[in-house]
Amino acid sequence: MSSRSHLLNNRTAEHYRRSVTHGVERVAAKLADAQQPFTGVTPSELAPTVSAVDLDQPLGTADEALEELERVYLRDAVYFHHPRYLAHLNCPVVIPAVLGEAVIAAVNSSLDTWDQSAGGTLIERRLIAWTAQRIGLHTAADGIFTSGGSQSNLQALLLAREETCRLVRKNSETAPSTSQLLPTLRILTSECSHFSIEKAAILLGLGPEAVIPVPCDEQRRMRVGALAEQLERCERAGETVMAVVATAGTTDFGSIDPLPAIADQCERTGTWLHVDAAYGCGLLTSRRRRALLDGIERADSVTVDYHKSFFQPVSSSAVLVRDRATLRHVTYHADYLNPARSVEQEIPNQVDKSIQTTRRFDALKLWMTLRVMGADALGELFDEVVDRAADAWRLLDADERFEVVVEPQLSTLVFRWLPGNGLAGDATLTERANLHAREALFASGEAIVAGTVVDGRHYLKFTLLNPETSLADITTVLDLIAAHAERYVQRQASQPQAARNAANPPALSAAQAC
Ligand SMILES: *Cc1c(COP(=O)(O)O)cnc(C)c1O
Repeated sequence: MSSRSHLLNNRTAEHYRRSVTHGVERVAAKLADAQQPFTGVTPSELAPTVSAVDLDQPLGTADEALEELERVYLRDAVYFHHPRYLAHLNCPVVIPAVLGEAVIAAVNSSLDTWDQSAGGTLIERRLIAWTAQRIGLHTAADGIFTSGGSQSNLQALLLAREETCRLVRKNSETAPSTSQLLPTLRILTSECSHFSIEKAAILLGLGPEAVIPVPCDEQRRMRVGALAEQLERCERAGETVMAVVATAGTTDFGSIDPLPAIADQCERTGTWLHVDAAYGCGLLTSRRRRALLDGIERADSVTVDYHKSFFQPVSSSAVLVRDRATLRHVTYHADYLNPARSVEQEIPNQVDKSIQTTRRFDALKLWMTLRVMGADALGELFDEVVDRAADAWRLLDADERFEVVVEPQLSTLVFRWLPGNGLAGDATLTERANLHAREALFASGEAIVAGTVVDGRHYLKFTLLNPETSLADITTVLDLIAAHAERYVQRQASQPQAARNAANPPALSAAQAC
């Protein structure tokens, strides 16, 4: 075949149809077949297979490449659609969005300027307006699709930094430059917020001390009293709070910071409020739980991750702003792309609002989703996983083998296994048994759970985002965890003391012991 036969165009439309259909058929068979979320393959088992592929020796046909892909990827991939995948904030995806994804790749619009996307620009704008309206922002609101919550948070904080510096300059006689102000800027966010806030601070040129963690209450929500104290302390110390970041759904606990009270503090002090709703945004479509987000409409900027609780394929996220004028801080003109004159001509373009240039038409996936199934249906899926998490919490709370941290507002459960027979007081054994259970479970591929650290101790975590996960699945996984942990404890008990003391650090020894 000639090189040109691989280009997708008017003459190759049939080749494209056959090629993609074969790929879809293979993936469909794979999904229908998956007995477990994972095979348990280790990096060292898989690496030689990937290394053995000679990238300078093409196979020539899609069928052969798909056959090879089976071995290098599909066979051992982690399948989020499986009901016993309970680890991270990855969702099973809805079919209308996958259909949208196929269209996105083939048409390949770039959402920077009108002359690279045409209708795509208008579709993205409609979805931003739709999201802003669901949040409760008014007509001055705007926003842009991004690659993910981390990028949305970065852009929101960039706008907050520029707006804050502008206001400081306006109110000061010396008109300090942004670089003079950088060392004095602070971001206040709860100790449970996402690490992308710290990364953003570094990227924005702030000092390492810029992000001040505000303590949380027992439910892992920001303490508003502590926030008020920090705001006052910063004021006294001559530090400028450029943003308060509230989290609507923390990654570990799904806890939602008290948005109305935080908004009051921001209003009182004239501070930019950013709400990171990367996880909790699913509530925007819930008919039963929308009230949990009350206060979000008072934010200056909001992060939503459609690729978490809107059941969209990666990537799909957006940053929304209360006042579209603030987006001018990412507007730059280039003669070759978006000359200032295009603004006068009123040609809509999205590059003026984005920190990216060439940008995927991710909005189309959400468009197809809303057009085929609608927002209520999405909300029902999310409500179902939140219901399931509440049931699972009751199950765990009543189970003597486990200790569970907080009753969830969304769909995560943080818990750990406790050894019986009077061994519960052995902190090291408990630590190691839980680490071992998670690793042994992953190695078996029967289920995947996450882990986190609470108050210096290792815990296990379920993140439920799949309505297909039943309470019976959860019971099965808990039994598997308990069995792995018990086996570990028994093995430790039967080993001589010296061998136990010689064990490697828990994370490693746990894996080696099995
Ligand atoms: C997942 C998450 C993010 C980061 O989003 P990505 O899409 O992974 O970049 C930010 N904040 C919170 C609260 C999250 O849960």
